[in-house]
Amino acid sequence: MDKNIPYKIYLSEDELPKQWYNVRADMKKKPSPLLDPGTGKPVTLEQMSGIFCTELARQELDDTTPYIDIPKDIRDFYRMYRPSPLTRAYFLEKALDTSAKIYYKFEGNNTSGSHKLNSAIAQAYYAKQQGLKGVTTETGAGQWGTALSMACAYLGLDCKVFMVKCSYEQKPFRREVMRTYGANVTPSPSETTEVGKKILAEFPGTTGSLGCAISEAVEAAVTHEGYRYVLGSVLSQVLIHQTVIGLETMTACDKYGIKPDVIIGCAGGGSNLGGLISPFMGRKLRGEADYRFIAVEPASCPSLTRGKYAYDFCDTGKVCPLAKMYTLGSGFIPSANHAGGLRYHGMSSVLSELYDQGLIEARSVEQTSVFQAATQFARVEGTLPAPESSHAIRVAIDEALKCKETGEEKTILFGLTGTGYFDMLAYQKYNDGEMSDYIPTDEELKSSLDKLPKI
Ligand SMILES: *Cc1c(COP(=O)(O)O)cnc(C)c1O
Repeated sequence: MDKNIPYKIYLSEDELPKQWYNVRADMKKKPSPLLDPGTGKPVTLEQMSGIFCTELARQELDDTTPYIDIPKDIRDFYRMYRPSPLTRAYFLEKALDTSAKIYYKFEGNNTSGSHKLNSAIAQAYYAKQQGLKGVTTETGAGQWGTALSMACAYLGLDCKVFMVKCSYEQKPFRREVMRTYGANVTPSPSETTEVGKKILAEFPGTTGSLGCAISEAVEAAVTHEGYRYVLGSVLSQVLIHQTVIGLETMTACDKYGIKPDVIIGCAGGGSNLGGLISPFMGRKLRGEADYRFIAVEPASCPSLTRGKYAYDFCDTGKVCPLAKMYTLGSGFIPSANHAGGLRYHGMSSVLSELYDQGLIEARSVEQTSVFQAATQFARVEGTLPAPESSHAIRVAIDEALKCKETGEEKTILFGLTGTGYFDMLAYQKYNDGEMSDYIPTDEELKSSLDKLPKI
């Protein structure tokens, strides 16, 4: 062990960031604007404010302000579980017998079990500030719904969650955590919305999808006085809130003289990865330092590695604005065989633009190799990782094993976004040797990409 670097680096409450960072301010070529699906013109603040809280809509459209003050109430809430530790993976390094130094930033240290709480509290706070009664949202696996329920309970806001029906049935404990925090959880599709009724009439017995739940949540927001819709990933505002992860990491690294060579994160909609890398990317964009960044996605939902950079719908119901992003097409649904999260068809427009400019790399990995890495990590480092987070572990281990061959002493940093306690059915499948891999064929991707909107 390196006696100058503790196993866990804890920051003090005073070192909690006072501002979030908006990486778009330092990008010379900015992400393309969101477009109104009706007119094809950039959306206005007024249009956005019909669906989202006004301040959040403002953050979404702001690509010039580098730093945004974190309101005191949000920082107070962060104190319940932040700053989160940066851990030196000494035991993993030893198990791999690698010359690389490995660090991870752990975001699972709160009841919701993931980084999503960082944005949930911010979004709930601005809704409360605006005098709203409540918010609506969708949840798939349940992490986002849980995080939002916690934030709403804290602020006394009503929270309506549309939970994809198959998860509602398969993950009863997630649902009960949300209800314990006072959320109203409805299995989607439901009879409570017009779009839900329509889908149920057309496909009786359907177990739902994320795209359908989004459409129901948006409808519930616009038809209930005093409600707005909130989303836990993909959007630029979410990426801004998640920079609390990267800013803390940077403070810890600077304090101990740690210089990461490569920074790795899993990428579903891109919020944790964007949040972790943004401050480091800022340094790179300003020419102050250089880093390699790697986005890791499932081979079964490969938006960066096999998707197209184009305008697409953010939801299956086609009610949200169009975003230019790496996408597999809004109708793409990953194979039922895919166990973990990270099943969104598109990618944050900020990360998409950075990837298109060659500033970040992307890699796709198969789920059996992801669970192999998860198991190896759990056994030596103690923490049971979420399947999503384990995508980053897989590539961190691969990079460390490369160093073992070359003898390089690279510093590898990855985001450990959450814990896997609610994912034991997937672990069970892996432990029983019943997990397999599925990689979509070119024809499958083409049929969904052929349906991209013509802009
Ligand atoms: C939601 C989630 C992700 C993926 O979402 P991003 O927006 O890509 O960060 C990753 N890990 C965990 C634990 C999650 O809950």
